[in-house]
Amino acid sequence: MTDPKQCVACGRGSDETPLLAFEYRGGTRWICPQHLPVLIHDPAKLADRLPGADRLSPAEHHD
Ligand SMILES: [Zn+2]
Repeated sequence: MTDPKQCVACGRGSDETPLLAFEYRGGTRWICPQHLPVLIHDPAKLADRLPGADRLSPAEHHD
């Protein structure tokens, strides 16, 4: 299975936006700078495309 080279959040490719590579569960994924904060602060929003991301909770969370 080849992961498409497109942002995991918005699906844009490198023709449209810079893409940053990261590794997750043994595969390379891509995310654009606009969505990097989502991966950092609210990865659960990416759970559709990153299975298990809903469990990547931030280290501390105070309501
Ligand atoms: Zn994006």
